[in-house]
Amino acid sequence: MRRPRAIVALVAIALSFAAAALLAGCGEPSGGSQSGRPVIVVTTPVLGAVVAQVVGAQAEVQVLMPNGADPHEWRPSAQDVAALDRADLIVESGLGLESGLTSAIAQAREDGVSVFTATDHLPVRHVGAGEGGASDDPDRQAGAADPHFWTDPMAMRRVVLALPAAVQSATGLDVHAGATAEAARLARLNRQVAAITAAAPAGRRDIITGHESLGYFADRYGFSVIGAVTPSLSTGAEASASHVADLAAAARAHHACVVFGEVGTPAAVTEAVASEAGARVVELTTHALPASGGYDAFITGIARAIASGLGSCA
Ligand SMILES: [Zn+2]
Repeated sequence: MRRPRAIVALVAIALSFAAAALLAGCGEPSGGSQSGRPVIVVTTPVLGAVVAQVVGAQAEVQVLMPNGADPHEWRPSAQDVAALDRADLIVESGLGLESGLTSAIAQAREDGVSVFTATDHLPVRHVGAGEGGASDDPDRQAGAADPHFWTDPMAMRRVVLALPAAVQSATGLDVHAGATAEAARLARLNRQVAAITAAAPAGRRDIITGHESLGYFADRYGFSVIGAVTPSLSTGAEASASHVADLAAAARAHHACVVFGEVGTPAAVTEAVASEAGARVVELTTHALPASGGYDAFITGIARAIASGLGSCA
């Protein structure tokens, strides 16, 4: 009798595995936890990498936007909207970065999902007078709030230190230890980035970017953003011919031999500015993780590209 019983048990186990596999296969492609752990949905890959470091294996971190997508322009699918609605906690950058998610996140919040907005927890940078150009576009006006905090590891550190309270209240998990460790790592990373960027020559620290994405980085490490190919905090705006000419003139006046391109910037306009200014184009990855590595590789990659790009200017 022992043998058949063992077989029955084995069949039962096999069936339960099959059922689990079936559920996994037919289950929601995104959203919902099969692990039974709380689900934290993060909007962007860069922020998602840091949140995952903080929470470790305690929660399931799902990143909504595919790596390489332009967060200013990205629009969610019906499945993404459902994933937001099923989350235990949503983590967003805020300040209009995820413009395509505004209504979906508002709906999830209305349905009782907790939302943590990173830029609520750091000193927000505002567009200064003379930056951005005159326009009716609210993203270009002096005083507009800049969402690109993730280009400053110390701003990211503020977010990390604020996260545990939100995670605890939404999920009951205690992630303070993970946050403390990550905050210490970010402080070390900041010193590393400062050392890398110190290599850029003192008289060559004026940068031209794709759109106005590097204000936090520039403020932290002593650079000055003298203009952007797309003169806006977002990527959707268009550059006029006169803007191209003005930017090229500024590049020449500041001896900027490099124009930094990035996601969402029309390559033809970047090339036009560079060619008119006698500069070359260096691509930066400012809104996505590099092919390998997490946030450290992301920010040191930007620092190295800027330092070596500016270092090559005569
Ligand atoms: Zn941007």
